[in-house]
Amino acid sequence: MVSLLAKAKGLDEEGITTYIYTGSYRLPLKTITGEIMKDIMVVDKIIGIGEVAISDHRSSQPTFEEFVRAVSDARVAGMLSGKAGIINIHLGDGPRKIALLRRALKETEIPITQFLPTHINRNPELFEECVYYAKDGGYIDFTGSEDPDFWEETDGEVRFSKGLKRLIEEGVSMDNFTLSSDGQGSMPIFNEKKEYVGIGIGKSTCLIKAIKECVYCESIPLETAIRAITSNPAKILKLNGKGRIEPDMDADLCLLDENLDVDTVVAKGKMMVENKKPVVYGIFEGK
Ligand SMILES: [Zn+2]
Repeated sequence: MVSLLAKAKGLDEEGITTYIYTGSYRLPLKTITGEIMKDIMVVDKIIGIGEVAISDHRSSQPTFEEFVRAVSDARVAGMLSGKAGIINIHLGDGPRKIALLRRALKETEIPITQFLPTHINRNPELFEECVYYAKDGGYIDFTGSEDPDFWEETDGEVRFSKGLKRLIEEGVSMDNFTLSSDGQGSMPIFNEKKEYVGIGIGKSTCLIKAIKECVYCESIPLETAIRAITSNPAKILKLNGKGRIEPDMDADLCLLDENLDVDTVVAKGKMMVENKKPVVYGIFEGK
């Protein structure tokens, strides 16, 4: 449930809404209606399944058959309901990396664009595999971090700015990458023996920090880097009305100041943050 909520995206009239994935982490999935296909076709906010964890010591170690059955249900339900039917895959740091995903592409007719593997920058070896996966036309999702220096140092995590630079050098399509935060999600902390030592919390503020690093440290154009959190996820997840500034879109706008800090947020045309101060508060948030 936590990973399902952590991947919430989007806004509605009141401020916050969610586009969610049905199930969480483990196969077989927990669904709302009892079936993956019904969940996606009947529940308007559900756009796919995930995070399905693979190559991870916390994964339910799904078999190939279990995996492709769930993938096929999500794909067909997505086609029937006009949604992405995306399969968001949590990649752990196990040596199998994306082997299960590659096998599904080799042995079934399911197209590579049905999947969005995440945490692809967890370590350099996994990232290398995912660069080639993206070169083959796959979508890849970076995970942002509040403290990229710490994670780069201790875990070898590839920070978004350096990873994006690599994608550019490799000629990967600039439509194929996204960046997500696991905002408000639990961030378990393990020691080197994979023993659980505590819990942290993901923060969505890491996203704009990562974009700033691209511009200021790697000289990547803002309009390229910002695609990771705007037009690319909107297109990949088929979030209609989102991701571009055009007539008849939802008017979800973020204005940045000259230092690329968030100054103003407009959600569906409604002012949410003005002059760097929130003007709309959630039910449990004090003014
Ligand atoms: Zn995950």
